[in-house]
Amino acid sequence: MRVVLLRHTPEPEVTIAAAARISTSPLPTRHLMEKEGQEEAARLIDRLINAGHMSPLEHSSFTLSLEGISRVTSHQLVRHRLASFTQRSQRYVRMSEPKFVTPPTLSATPELRARFEKGARASFDLYIELVEAGVAEEDARYLLPSAMETEVVMTMNARELITASGLRLCPRAQWEIVSLFEGIKAEVARVAPTIGKHLRPKCYKLGYCDEFKSCGLFPTLKEMTKTV
Ligand SMILES: Cc1cc2nc3c(=O)[nH]c(=O)nc-3n(C[C@H](O)[C@H](O)[C@H](O)COP(=O)(O)OP(=O)(O)OC[C@H]3O[C@@H](n4cnc5c(N)ncnc54)[C@H](O)[C@@H]3O)c2cc1C
Repeated sequence: MRVVLLRHTPEPEVTIAAAARISTSPLPTRHLMEKEGQEEAARLIDRLINAGHMSPLEHSSFTLSLEGISRVTSHQLVRHRLASFTQRSQRYVRMSEPKFVTPPTLSATPELRARFEKGARASFDLYIELVEAGVAEEDARYLLPSAMETEVVMTMNARELITASGLRLCPRAQWEIVSLFEGIKAEVARVAPTIGKHLRPKCYKLGYCDEFKSCGLFPTLKEMTKTV
């Protein structure tokens, strides 16, 4: 898996802070933008997030290339409706290499890993056979396993990044999407460290776990009320 930040709003944190300040300042935003410093912007963004005033965070967006993720993970990812996605098509691009994501639970047991890879490879080989016999890629691809690697370009604004990371960095989310969001967090934090800091499981902001079962990081509300 490889995560690469391709583009982002220039000065993403200054842009958010200057936009937020228009609500309490008579100055035009272009002047607020010129006056805004990195440190004041960081402090304001912390205050906005802690108070739940999230709409100014929609003014900065990040476009990332997400390479070598499985179709299992891309399927989970595109459930985030407030982002934009473009994915390499298995209709128009012939899958020429058998590249699969192997879950670590399988990697730990060589025999199971070998069986998994054999099964995935057999599906891939039959796909190639069908395509070479004249079946359209769009139909032959029904055979390809969900472990098959794919590439997605994703654009998310800072608000949606915080929402999605709150869900996907939760230790109860699946290992591959957790790892993907760890990569996204690292890339975003390079250019927007304050936003990067807020890309974390949602329990940190809530102060409790709102899942049915806690991973142990924070107690659930039920567990908290029991101890009071
Ligand atoms: C651990 C885990 C397990 C999961 N298991 C399953 C599963 O078994 N089956 C399954 O189908 N899905 C599952 N999901 C996916 C989940 O149900 C959501 O589809 C996904 O996490 C996207 O979240 P979202 O809808 O809150 O956010 P987004 O689509 O990213 O939207 C962000 C926020 O915008 C608002 N919003 C967006 N669209 C609307 C709308 N139409 N109306 C009102 N408000 C809106 C909401 O406040 C939302 O939280 C799972 C997710 C996780 C993290």
